Amino acid sequence: MKDPQPHGGSGNFRIPQSAYSGPHPLVGEQAGFQDTLWGFGMRLAISSGVLAAQSLLNGENYDRLWQRELKPQMETSVVNRALYSLVGNSGYRWFLRQVAKPNLRELLRRQYQPSLMKQLLRPWAKRRYQSRRKDLTCDHIDCHCIWCRGECCVRD
Ligand SMILES: Cc1cc2nc3c(=O)[nH]c(=O)nc-3n(C[C@H](O)[C@H](O)[C@H](O)COP(=O)(O)OP(=O)(O)OC[C@H]3O[C@@H](n4cnc5c(N)ncnc54)[C@H](O)[C@@H]3O)c2cc1C
Repeated sequence: MKDPQPHGGSGNFRIPQSAYSGPHPLVGEQAGFQDTLWGFGMRLAISSGVLAAQSLLNGENYDRLWQRELKPQMETSVVNRALYSLVGNSGYRWFLRQVAKPNLRELLRRQYQPSLMKQLLRPWAKRRYQSRRKDLTCDHIDCHCIWCRGECCVRD
């Protein structure tokens, strides 16, 4: 490369307080459903679509459904992200060795379980990834701007 210049961007992941927009259930990323660790949002997008349909068909409360089915895994993902940021090169090497093994799926499934240890680490992880980007035009009182919508904002 001739004269390479550094560049970057940022993404904001949040766990929504509610996934309703007025009376309408929101699904996928528009609702804030994302995997904080690696941005694997497809499964959450499809699962939330199924739950939204179920809520409409059965007259169930959508927030209650996704908070039961999706939120524990999303919160665990915040903890995973915080832990992953600490492991350093030896941790990445360990992980890459696991990727090469046939039981990767099982390993990931286990890592996304809200175990007692991960639950205890949750407040620490949320503090660690509190968004430092604030919209100065917003007073954050009774507000639904992008910064105020989530319980947890994660800077990427
Ligand atoms: C480079 C990259 C790699 C990724 N890799 C993975 C991966 O390996 N595994 C994984 O699980 N996830 C991955 N993701 C994330 C995953 O793609 C998203 O989380 C997922 O697709 C979100 O689905 P969604 O339906 O919420 O939104 P989207 O897939 O973004 O769908 C929204 C759709 O709405 C359309 N739209 C927007 N506004 C309007 C409008 N006003 N009117 C009509 N249509 C509109 C858009 O064009 C789009 O087609 C990746 C994302 C990126 C960017």
